[in-house]
Amino acid sequence: MTSSGPYENGSTIMGIGVSPGIAIGRAFMTEPGISAKKIILSDDQLGYEQERFRAAVARTEEKLRHVREQFASVLADYATLVDAHILMLRDGMIFDRTLGIIGAEKVNAEWALEKALRLVEDLFAKVDDSYIRERFTDVRQVVDRIFCEFAGADKLPEAIDEKVILVSRDFAPEDILRMRGRAGFLTEVGGETSHTSIVARTLGIPAVVGLKDVTGRVAGGDLVILDGSAGRVIINPGPELLRQYEERQQQQQRHVLEVAQYAHLRSETSDGLLVRVEANLEGVDEVKQALEYGAGGIGLFRSEYLYLGCKDNPGEELLFDTYKQLLSMNAPFPVTIRTFDIGGDKLSVDKTGKASGFRGKMEKQWSSEANPALGLRAIRYCLHDPAMFATQLRAMLRASCFGCLRILFPMISSCCELRQVKEVVAGVQEKLRGDGIPFDDRVRFGVMIEVPSAVALADTLAREVDFFSIGTNDLIQYSLAIDRGNELVAHMYDPLHPAVLRMIGQVVESAHGAGIEVGICGEMAGEERYLPVLLGLGLDSFSMHPLAIPAIKRMIRQSNAASVQRLAERLLDCDSSLEIRKSLRDYYVRHYPGLTV
Ligand code: PEP
Ligand code: MG
Repeated sequence: MTSSGPYENGSTIMGIGVSPGIAIGRAFMTEPGISAKKIILSDDQLGYEQERFRAAVARTEEKLRHVREQFASVLADYATLVDAHILMLRDGMIFDRTLGIIGAEKVNAEWALEKALRLVEDLFAKVDDSYIRERFTDVRQVVDRIFCEFAGADKLPEAIDEKVILVSRDFAPEDILRMRGRAGFLTEVGGETSHTSIVARTLGIPAVVGLKDVTGRVAGGDLVILDGSAGRVIINPGPELLRQYEERQQQQQRHVLEVAQYAHLRSETSDGLLVRVEANLEGVDEVKQALEYGAGGIGLFRSEYLYLGCKDNPGEELLFDTYKQLLSMNAPFPVTIRTFDIGGDKLSVDKTGKASGFRGKMEKQWSSEANPALGLRAIRYCLHDPAMFATQLRAMLRASCFGCLRILFPMISSCCELRQVKEVVAGVQEKLRGDGIPFDDRVRFGVMIEVPSAVALADTLAREVDFFSIGTNDLIQYSLAIDRGNELVAHMYDPLHPAVLRMIGQVVESAHGAGIEVGICGEMAGEERYLPVLLGLGLDSFSMHPLAIPAIKRMIRQSNAASVQRLAERLLDCDSSLEIRKSLRDYYVRHYPGLTV
């Protein structure tokens, strides 16, 4: 392969696999490919040109509104992202400036728009704050859409063959929603926790991101194999490779159908150990899907998305109604609602900087922090704003009469912090009693173990709560010092790092020593290749994206608890992830043929 220019036939390129599955199809380049040419206009043409620009913006807006309607019914929480893009269309930085350039420089709309974009890019480039700099991506996405309107094209044309693999520098989350039915997509930028990737996983569209220069080196019409689990992409494969991947793809399709049968079976090992398999949800609209896929409860309800979707701080009644609905829909299964956890990486939920009300206040707070992932996030924010925290707790406790509620506190890093939290809870309970408002006094309280200090203190914390939930997404980030959203260090984000396994083992031991339950709700819980390890380490429950549930249940039923416990003991003695992987491979060959790690 040459280092630049088109990829040679048969080239394999590696990126970050963010949504599993094999896709095979022709590359479809979604960039509009318009290089704006400068055309000087006469004075009497300027009015028409400005009108042409306004019309392109209006058509873009109309299409976005249409997409928004689809979002509202499928992924309500993401509709706000589309709203943000709609607002940006009319932003003075682009809209007024483009009209101004057309008039002042007597140029065509495309040229003026490109120039306005460059000016904005320069402004963003001068900002020190990397988060604000990254917001330029959204401006670019919106401008791309206007360019498509000039060209009479659509970034995602409806009429193309569904087997195409869409290729772009980047996609907005709303583009992914419109991709249903497409084979898959490739992008140059992104990471596993970007919202584009999360939506792709939700919709089951295979994807590989972080493929530097891919738009310049793949040509429309190239035959592409995309392996979204391995992060592998093969360009114009030979017939033999193509045949192998077609076979693997068919195997995967058979596997999906086969494992679907496990959705409603008991999650019990061959020697009778029963564990709970639950779902991670971001919104109430996902409950139906979770139940269909066989969730035996909600292991993690990320309550912050409700706040992000509101113009202002949601009041107690809205929170109460939502929690009540969530609990009643899942009863008698337990529902674990995590208190407001936002900051750091979740800033990417809205990058427009135009948010107002509560959301605007939050964004201002975070963007002023040099290290937001280490800043005033999650429980720290709640303790900083006790009135907001008390309102959320009050709504949860009121809703507790409608099902089986567990309340989970994120990012606890010390016993003092937990005690402060418990004081706020006790105050809210006392007030409810005083007001004569009923609540279930059997509600269980737990902490997320996702900061290394919480691991070290797990034995003490375990004496003060009813359950633990290990958040490996953050625990890995904080213990290995790897930014979970940064594609440049994504290869170091290693769930099988010996330190990670030992920490999980230590937390399980502390929890069981104190007689409390311990579950896991990080992304690794939903990956088949880690299940035997986690089961062997003694976790009692596994919470994951709903689509992953049937396959994980199947793995549990194929496992023998005594055997995976011995496996885990051996892994805890390994001093490198290489050694751990080797041991696992040997074990999988014997016990789970076909499973790789
Ligand atoms: C985690 O950190 O593992 C977790 C589940 O929480 P989130 O991904 O919401 O930070
Ligand atoms: Mg977390």
